[in-house]
Amino acid sequence: MDRVYNFSAGPSALPLAVLEKAQKEFINARNTGMSVMEMSHRSKMYLEIINEAEQLLRDLMNIPDNYKVLFLQGGASLQFSMVPLNLFRKFKKADFVNTGQWSKKAIQEAKRFGVANVLASSEDKMFTYIPDLNKEDFSSDADYFHITPNNTIYGTRFSNIPDTGDVPLVADMSSCILSEDYDVSKFGIIYAGAQKNIGPAGLVVVIIREDLIGHADESTPVMLDYKTHADKGSMYNTPPTYGIYIAMLVFEWLKKLGGIKAIEEYNIEKANILYDFLDNSKLFKGTVVKKDRSRMNVPFVLPTAELDKEFIAKAAESGLVNLGGHRSVGGMRASIYNAMPIEGVKKLVDFMKEFELSKA
Ligand SMILES: *Cc1c(COP(=O)(O)O)cnc(C)c1O
Repeated sequence: MDRVYNFSAGPSALPLAVLEKAQKEFINARNTGMSVMEMSHRSKMYLEIINEAEQLLRDLMNIPDNYKVLFLQGGASLQFSMVPLNLFRKFKKADFVNTGQWSKKAIQEAKRFGVANVLASSEDKMFTYIPDLNKEDFSSDADYFHITPNNTIYGTRFSNIPDTGDVPLVADMSSCILSEDYDVSKFGIIYAGAQKNIGPAGLVVVIIREDLIGHADESTPVMLDYKTHADKGSMYNTPPTYGIYIAMLVFEWLKKLGGIKAIEEYNIEKANILYDFLDNSKLFKGTVVKKDRSRMNVPFVLPTAELDKEFIAKAAESGLVNLGGHRSVGGMRASIYNAMPIEGVKKLVDFMKEFELSKA
């Protein structure tokens, strides 16, 4: 079978050039006579790899010097716990915007350790929009303010990042990191599971402002304290070495493409092709209000669940795979992360046009 266009929400498609480079180096990386998987994480060669990965990410995202970059495990889901464990110190309270299942999980975890104040929610309309935020509602006595800038399941995106003043803004960027230009200095913590826009599952990247490190309660397990990992350069224990290596290759690829500004333009172009078609189709319908549409995850539906099923099956036969919506919402979802080439999006739209014609 040829390689397909993989619209999976995560783990997701990786750039072919990255996979090919990894394949070339698979059994003998950088003339060491071994695979990166077989290297000691403390070896000179591996330190070069992890340092390169960090430097590339710093360059790409323009990360200020007073931020640490950590390569951790446990997925974005463990960050739902680590954030309150490390940041709840003065008030044991945080503000949240509930924009879907991942936000909810962050809220649930914070509730174990303190007060999770839900400022606004879009649950009333199945999370198909980003709720308006009223600055007067923001708690001044919050230890942090949490948002999910891109909602993977529902396909919504914050087009305005809230200004939270002195309250550290924490963002779960699992499905949008590196897809557009964010001003890192506006955030206290950015975290992202790797398996959408960075690399393989098993790695989570945390970008954290230094003054937020070192305040965890003494009872905090050592592995859940950011200070442990910050002090040891993500080497307190064995980090996910191969995942970090692939991430480094992805960062390199992105830099060669022209960096974040270039990929952002490309992503807008890709998303527009799909949304333009949806807006003009008589059969397919996008599910998200226009102003809050995601550029990474594009959900849409046909008039009946039977047609959805037929579409997904026929698309797969044409090499357009993993177009089913999240199991909780149904319908279709095309995830078009950085690694999805524009040709894949065009092929999908052509296929949708054909499908529509066949039903006319
Ligand atoms: C995928 C995803 C998660 C879950 O990540 P895990 O690495 O599986 O824990 C959390 N938040 C968002 C926004 C996601 O897209």
